[in-house]
Amino acid sequence: MAKKDTQSTGSKLDQVVAEARRARDEREKGYREQALKLYPWICGRCGREFGLRNLQELTVHHKNHNHDDNPSDGSNWELLCLYCHDEEHARQVRLNKTAAAGPENQGSTFKAFAGLESLLKNPKGE
Ligand SMILES: [Zn+2]
Ligand SMILES: [Zn+2]
Repeated sequence: MAKKDTQSTGSKLDQVVAEARRARDEREKGYREQALKLYPWICGRCGREFGLRNLQELTVHHKNHNHDDNPSDGSNWELLCLYCHDEEHARQVRLNKTAAAGPENQGSTFKAFAGLESLLKNPKGE
């Protein structure tokens, strides 16, 4: 049983990271190509049409926001232009924030302001 060279551990880790990045890029390229074959090159929101010249501005959106969910029938993909894709994700973030803002969160905001108020009244903190 040969002992492995411990001095090369760092570069091996780099290799693993590089390999993982490459695999991810390949996978992204894979589903993008598949989605572009499946669907017409039109943004699903604003209806903008794309050709080979500006195809890099057309992106693949994952409807359930899970980039690992790539069924080959394309049911989780939607082609969106860069702007509509940004908007779609911003909307999702807003939805998440609204869902998280319950009475308890409002309470903590109120407490934070109460603390601020006492600091202003008593700048030296005495
Ligand atoms: Zn669009
Ligand atoms: Zn997306």
